[in-house]
Amino acid sequence: MKAIISHDIDHITVWEHLLKDTIIPKYITRMHLELLTGKISFKELFLRYTDFFKNKWQNIDELITFNNLNNIPSSFFIAVNKGVGLNYSLNNAIPWILQMKLRNCEIGVHGISYENFDLINNEYLQFNKISELNNFGIRMHYVRNNNETLMNLAKAGYKYDSTINDFINPYKIGNMWEFPFQIMDGWVIQNGTRWQNTNLQKAKESTLKLIDEAYTKKINYLGIDFHDRYFSPSFKTWLNWYVWLIEYLKSNKIEFINFNSAITELEK
Ligand SMILES: [Zn+2]
Repeated sequence: MKAIISHDIDHITVWEHLLKDTIIPKYITRMHLELLTGKISFKELFLRYTDFFKNKWQNIDELITFNNLNNIPSSFFIAVNKGVGLNYSLNNAIPWILQMKLRNCEIGVHGISYENFDLINNEYLQFNKISELNNFGIRMHYVRNNNETLMNLAKAGYKYDSTINDFINPYKIGNMWEFPFQIMDGWVIQNGTRWQNTNLQKAKESTLKLIDEAYTKKINYLGIDFHDRYFSPSFKTWLNWYVWLIEYLKSNKIEFINFNSAITELEK
């Protein structure tokens, strides 16, 4: 089994949400609840308030650096359209797309439209134009999809998708590879709620169960989704969970690979 780690970029700045959606008040409620239930420390609460003044809700640069030091290929999904709780502008996304490209990251679209082919196709064309890439994939924001989404993604020209959560091996839809993923940071740490609902130890235990299940079901590419937003001391449990997971996979001799290299292997 090899691991494919990928990162969804849901936020770039804090203020992109100001007066546009309800993310900020919900977030403030959430962090105070997490403090009251003993899931986060005063220090984390303080750091989260300083993030407002820094106006920074992404950790792309830090994550690429960490991944590079650990020989993990960085694979990102970034949006070129606004969606539910995702409000950064194309102008704010472009410099990051260019930086990721310069640093040899694999970049795909964090897809917003999932119900209408023309809208899906527009996002494909928009990203193709900005990135000047043509071998890119997609993961839908909030993994939203219906019966036709995957077919329409393939029709638009995406090379791969990783929206489906399932313990099955990659399969083809038209010319597109679907890479089901098995582990998502939020599902482990929020444990079915909208706030941190577990501690590091419990998060590790439930992750190990998922990895065991992947072994039992003979999964060749373990898909892991970790949001760059949480690669920060403001989210200590999330940060420590990611660092632990990488160490765990390394010590179990699990190789890291990105989607495009996995496709090359699959098509050999
Ligand atoms: Zn998302």
